[in-house]
Amino acid sequence: MPFYEYRCEICGHRVEVMQKMSDAPLVECPQCHAEQLRKLVSAGSFGSKAASIDNAPACASGGCGASCMTQS
Ligand SMILES: [Zn+2]
Repeated sequence: MPFYEYRCEICGHRVEVMQKMSDAPLVECPQCHAEQLRKLVSAGSFGSKAASIDNAPACASGGCGASCMTQS
């Protein structure tokens, strides 16, 4: 399952979540409740998918969870 990181534009609070690709992105900050969350592109997201397949097949499907997907 993809791992997403968001940052609040208002208070700078950072949120890390596991979401299905079909889930709607988060918009509301859990700290200040402003609807100003912005999705950050992390090393564990889609950009490195090809490399992940080479290095660790289990990671391609997210079967091992987020821990290995955060390593570039
Ligand atoms: Zn906030």
